[in-house]
Amino acid sequence: MTIARLIAGRSDTVWTVHADDSVADAIALLAERRIGALPVTDGDGGVAGIFSERDVLYSLRRLGADLLTRKVGDVMTSPVVTVSPDQSALDALALMTKRRFRHLPVMDGGKMVAFISIGDLVKFRIERIEADAEAMRDYIQSA
Ligand code: AMP
Repeated sequence: MTIARLIAGRSDTVWTVHADDSVADAIALLAERRIGALPVTDGDGGVAGIFSERDVLYSLRRLGADLLTRKVGDVMTSPVVTVSPDQSALDALALMTKRRFRHLPVMDGGKMVAFISIGDLVKFRIERIEADAEAMRDYIQSA
């Protein structure tokens, strides 16, 4: 299955921040929305970085409480690894596993069209495996 199919019909808001936003505001957004990461937009539809809960942890260790006075751009991860809608969902899952992160912006023509998490991909895999098992059971019972 392609990522295009996986994200088709999605209407969920993709919460984003800008590199000039304060880290304190970005952390508040992560907590209020109960999400794990925010793409950092470049103001032109593209993605300048990613700010995830892991970045909060790493930069807290490095900067201490001073972290809360910093801008997102100071502590975000950049450059960002992205995928395109025509790539397969399995490729995206393999990429996340290999690179050890849980989020991928989906880019089309330089613009972010979706933001997928490892949870979206695992859900897709489980649904797929269950559907295949069901089809196999039906086949065996009708044989
Ligand atoms: P995560 O597991 O996604 O919460 O992120 C773990 C670390 O990888 C954090 O430092 C993130 O900023 C970084 N990260 C997450 N997603 C990506 C990505 N698509 N490209 C580059 N770095 C990322």
